[in-house]
Amino acid sequence: MLKSIEEKQPQVNTCEQTCPTCHTQSVFTHLGQQTWPKAVAQSLNIPAIVDLWRCGNCETTITFTDEDTM
Ligand SMILES: [Zn+2]
Repeated sequence: MLKSIEEKQPQVNTCEQTCPTCHTQSVFTHLGQQTWPKAVAQSLNIPAIVDLWRCGNCETTITFTDEDTM
C-alpha cells in the first residue's frame, strides 16, 4: 500500500531576502496576504493582492509583490 505524500508543512512560510530596510540578508516570515479593493489598488498603482513579510532581523513588515514577474 502506497503512502500518499502530503505536504505537512507548517503554515508559516519563510524566505531569505535582502531586507530593503536594514539591508541585511535575512529570513522573512510570511504574515499573510493583504487584498485591496480594485479601485484602491488602481488609484495607488499597486497590485490587488500583496504579500506581507516580516524581516527576522529588524522586524519591519514589508511587502513583496509579483509585479516583477508579470
Ligand atoms: Zn530588516
